[in-house]
Amino acid sequence: MLLASLCLVGSAHATTLPVEPYAQYDAQSTCSPAAKKGTVALGRYLVRTYGGRFGRIGEPCTGRSVSEHKEGRAFDWMVSSRRKAQRARAYQFLRAAFATGPSGQPAELARRMGIMYVIFNDHIYASYDHFAPRPYRSEGCASLRKCSATLRHLNHVHISLTRAGAAASTSWYVGRVPGAVYVPPAPDPVVPPAGPGPYGGDPSNPWHH
Ligand SMILES: [Zn+2]
Repeated sequence: MLLASLCLVGSAHATTLPVEPYAQYDAQSTCSPAAKKGTVALGRYLVRTYGGRFGRIGEPCTGRSVSEHKEGRAFDWMVSSRRKAQRARAYQFLRAAFATGPSGQPAELARRMGIMYVIFNDHIYASYDHFAPRPYRSEGCASLRKCSATLRHLNHVHISLTRAGAAASTSWYVGRVPGAVYVPPAPDPVVPPAGPGPYGGDPSNPWHH
């Protein structure tokens, strides 16, 4: 009974909670490699829904590389870009994640999941770039030809989550993850209005640039 009502709440929330804004880049800054519950939930969902294998979340905090794996908020989804069926599944998820969703917002699913960026098959899709595909080459590679399949992300999809997504506090996790506490997204930053006034468009105004 309780489970049923929780599920009901979850499905209702999926479409009625506001879509999170596009996340900014928030780099790894602490050592906390234990897998966070949102990251685990997303990884399980991907394997269950699309197949592939459950890869790595946490990573030892050695070396100088900055990685969300060191904060337990990155997931390596083991699907190969070199195998047609697996590649198709990876792109099936990316299309779904970046599609315009039921509430009319672009990349609704990715934003609700708290995805910060995805790297797969020599491309990066970043929230702070509205998930437009951009060519990607690891800093560790002088050229793609000399770069390993792992660093080129040919053998896995890397997904970094925001701190909120990893904590399962964005809208997608509500009703899916036991104990998830939803935190409403902060409003978009306030932009000073154009027009007359200290920040406005009057050329005689000393504040005008
Ligand atoms: Zn990774």
